[in-house]
Amino acid sequence: MEYERERSLLIRSLANQGVSDKTLKAMKKVPRHLFVPSIHISRAYVDSPLPIGHAQTISAPHMVAMMCDLLELEEGQKILEIGSGSGYNAAVMAEIIGQKGQIYSIERLEKLAVFAHDNLQKTGYSNVKVTLADGSLGLPDHAPYDRICVTASAPDTPKPLIEQLKPGGIMVLPEGEGYQHLYIIRKSLDGEVTKQDWGGVIFVPLVGYHGFKQYDSKRGHR
Ligand code: SAH
Repeated sequence: MEYERERSLLIRSLANQGVSDKTLKAMKKVPRHLFVPSIHISRAYVDSPLPIGHAQTISAPHMVAMMCDLLELEEGQKILEIGSGSGYNAAVMAEIIGQKGQIYSIERLEKLAVFAHDNLQKTGYSNVKVTLADGSLGLPDHAPYDRICVTASAPDTPKPLIEQLKPGGIMVLPEGEGYQHLYIIRKSLDGEVTKQDWGGVIFVPLVGYHGFKQYDSKRGHR
């Protein structure tokens, strides 16, 4: 299969970094080269972020792996993703949760929502639904969610996302501007919310109602 060798080398390097077998197995199946713009296809299996247009990026494979592991994904879960981008992160999560699970992914830029949708269609991930909306407000129609994965950095934890997390659920999100940290937010069965700092990361900013207003320029809409 095309790019299989490159993919295996990437998976081996992620295994050496301590990524779980469950996540490695999923990433071994997802063809990342079909989620990057064709001009970057030769770098699809390099462990780095890549531009996907509109000033946005597909996250580095090790970051996708870390988010999946921190979310403690299980078969059959219902997941909300904020920031569809290329659709790659959603595809990896979809591999883990399987056909009985469902992913709702929100993207605010129309061209990227179409890009993610098309990439997920052509690779066969029919249990991921991409919605064009402001993900900082969550997606109340299908709440509550077992897991919430935010792939853009927020100024603070958006309240609607905490509300839409199921008791017993886990949310992973980056927060901060420039200097960002990844946080794991857990809601206990009796509704108590705890927040754990996982350390420094780099993501594009979350914009929108509960996002950074200063990045909400027309630039991204072209
Ligand atoms: N998960 C993506 C990474 C995308 S980068 C992947 O695997 O490729 C983050 C994405 O978040 C960008 O596409 C950006 O447009 C989007 N984004 C930023 N703020 C948003 C918001 N309020 N709602 C939905 N998407 C948002």
